[in-house]
This record gives sequence, structure tokens and C-alpha cells, in this order.
Amino acid sequence: MARIVMKFGGTSVADVEKIKNVARRVKSEVDAGNQVAVVVSAMSGKTNELVGWADTISPLYDAREYDVIVSSGEQVTVGLLAMALQSMDVPARSWLGWQIPIKTDGAHAKARIKSIDTTELDKRLDGGEVVCVAGFQGIAPDNRITTLGRGGSDTSAVALAAALRADRCDIYTDVEGVYTTDPRIVPKARKIEKITYEEMLELASLGAKVLQTRSVEMAMNHRVRVQVRSTFSDAEGTLVVDEDEIVEQEVVSGIAYSRDEAKITLVKVADKPGTAATIFGPLAEANINVDMIVQNISENGNSTDMTFTVPRGEFKRALQVIEGNREKIAYQELLSTSDVTKVSIIGVGMRSHVGVARKMFETLSDKGINIQVISTSEIKVSVLIAEEYTELAVRALHTAYGLDAD
Ligand code: ADP
Ligand code: ASP
Ligand code: MG
Repeated sequence: MARIVMKFGGTSVADVEKIKNVARRVKSEVDAGNQVAVVVSAMSGKTNELVGWADTISPLYDAREYDVIVSSGEQVTVGLLAMALQSMDVPARSWLGWQIPIKTDGAHAKARIKSIDTTELDKRLDGGEVVCVAGFQGIAPDNRITTLGRGGSDTSAVALAAALRADRCDIYTDVEGVYTTDPRIVPKARKIEKITYEEMLELASLGAKVLQTRSVEMAMNHRVRVQVRSTFSDAEGTLVVDEDEIVEQEVVSGIAYSRDEAKITLVKVADKPGTAATIFGPLAEANINVDMIVQNISENGNSTDMTFTVPRGEFKRALQVIEGNREKIAYQELLSTSDVTKVSIIGVGMRSHVGVARKMFETLSDKGINIQVISTSEIKVSVLIAEEYTELAVRALHTAYGLDAD
């Protein structure tokens, strides 16, 4: 007998028929003698709709009310799933975040899980009941409802698996596993059998939304065995594992892209100590994540241009903050666009190979794609390009690094 956590994403619970299908999958694990906790997302499209409603009323909304609104999608699916299981004679009940409770910090709309009290859940699981948990939500220290950031039900599932000391955490989704890149834009993408926590972390944080970044962090820290697999087939999925479990290692194992970027350039800021701090200090205070940064060489020794990127959702706020500090920063002109995509190559093999980045630059240049900003770390290289070239760039790189399926 094993204790497992099964997580089902939005497309897996998109309607009542699909929820019944999920219930059947859960039942088969129960029939095999396993203890099962299930985490569900909202029906696909639902969270976007809820976010849209909140935006319509107030673009600079109260994040506490935003959480009340957007957490509601999961309340519906978790209740429907418990009901579907009961109708198949599987004992089950639903749990909202606050009922468990899943305690988080107070960072509304992107809260972090602090603790999960498993006393009652342990009892129920030991007694043979299926525990159905609403993903994406928790409760803040002041007892208000929080959500964990978009895609957060992956994190709910991994955190629950860690707290319950589950043997496995299976993430069921609409693709058969983690691929070398998004299979929706590269039909030749290959399913990866095993991927390291580190590479998965980079892939996720650089845009592959198949797992939320924090869920990978959590899995890595608590050594949770995560498997990504399809709700709609029995194919083997992808295991996220330690590096020493991987036999053959590609130099570049995956390619990610993110349209969630916006670029800001400050023209002619002073080329002197303290300039970067006057720009990025106020952005940090406003809780805005700056990602890529490039400072040009000063032409005359007095002034320079500073370019950086922020998440699209924080673009307007970032512009407000910069304009609000115009006198202090003393830039001549502010240029901005959200017409950009970040494309990244990822692989732990990069540590021991040279020429990996050069191949990326040559491949893009062959396609006539201009690179606007570059950033690198030990196991990834990212470039910022015009959004219209996203698919072309990802496909060309996928071929160049030998990742295409036969
Ligand atoms: P769910 O609703 O099940 O959580 P998501 O839409 O959040 O599903 O994540 C699954 C999607 O992630 C896939 O449909 C796919 O388009 C996308 N994706 C992006 N990059 C990858 C990748 N490298 N491997 C697999 N899927 C990817
Ligand atoms: N329903 C939430 C979202 O769309 C959480 C999730 O799907 O993981 O972001
Ligand atoms: Mg998801």
C-alpha cells in the first residue's frame, strides 16, 4: 500500500464528464489499495474569467479581495469531485485551504505556504477516505483567504505530498509529461523520461508552465517524487529526479519561452556610482521583480542607457514607479514595449561544454532574429527577442541542439 497525491489541472476537470473521468482514475488507485489525496485546479478558463472580472472593476485591485474571487473556481471542482467519488461508493470529502488549514504568509495573490496541519487528513486517509483538496488556496495569518500565484495548485499538491509524507506526487495534465519544449508550438518536441530538479526548476521559471516554479522548489527541498503525466492516457510520464539518477545527459535538455516580459529602457542616465540603485531601489520597494538587465557602454563617459525587463503584469506599475522618480533618476527619455519574448536554453551539461551559447546566437542570426538582451547562469542562456519570432526561434533552436524527435 502506498500513500499518493494526485493533482489534476484545469483541462482535466474542465466539465462534469471530465470530473467523472478523474473520479474513475482516483477510484482505480483506491481499488489498488492505496491511500489517496487529490488536489484539483479550477475548470480550465475559469480562473482567467475570474481575474478578468476583478480587473474590470478595478485594475489596481485590493489583492485580498482578488484572492476571495479567484480562489472560488477550485471550490466548485473540489466539491464536484467529492460528489462524483461518493456516487461511485468511494468515501470522500472536500477540503478548502482554510479548513485543513494550509497556512500561508500574507502575500496575497502570490502567497507562500508556511505549514499544513495534517492531523485530520492523516486520520481520514488511514480510515480509507479520499481526501479532496482545493488547490491554489490557503489562509493568511489574519485568517483571510490567499492564493499561491497562477499555476499554484501544483504547489498545493507537492506541499501536501511533503506534509503527508506521500510516496508519490502525480501531476496529471493535458500533455504526456515534460517535453524538450512546449509540444504545442514544436510538434517535434520529445517527451523527457527523467529530468533533474535543477533543470525542471529552470524550465519552469523560464516559462514552461507545465509545473509552477515553486512546486519544483518545494519538491527539490523535500525530495518529493514528482511525476508529470497525462489524465487522458496511460502513457508513462516524466519523473523529476536527482542528477545522479540520470544516465545520459544532453548538453541542452530543454528550451523554454516566456511572453510574460516587458522591456523598459532609460535613455541617457548618469554613468556614475549609485545610478543603478536609484533605478532599481524604488522598483524593489514596489515589489516589482526585475529580470534581465543590461547597461550600455557609455559613449562619452558621462551618460549611458539602462535596459531591463519586468513581468508584463507589473509593467504599468513599473512605468508609474519610474515616472514617479524621474527627477531622482534623471533619465532623458523612457522607451518601453511589451512586444518581446524571452527564449532560453537549459541544460546541466552546459557546465562542462563550451560553445553552447555561441550556437544559440548563430542559430538566431541565421534566421535574421535580433537579440535585444542576453542573460546567462551556470545552466541556462536567455535572450530577449521580438515576440513575433517566438515560434521560429524556439523551433530553430530545438533543431540546432539535436532535440527534434525522429
Ligand atoms: P494544468 O491545467 O494541467 O496545470 P498547464 O496548462 O498549467 O496545465 O500546463 C500544461 C501545459 O504546459 C501544456 O499544455 C503545454 O502547452 C505547456 N508546456 C510548456 N512547456 C512545456 C514543456 N516543456 N513540456 C510540457 N508542457 C509544456
Ligand atoms: N486555477 C489556478 C490557475 O489557473 C491554479 C492552477 O491552475 O494551478 O492559475
Ligand atoms: Mg498548471
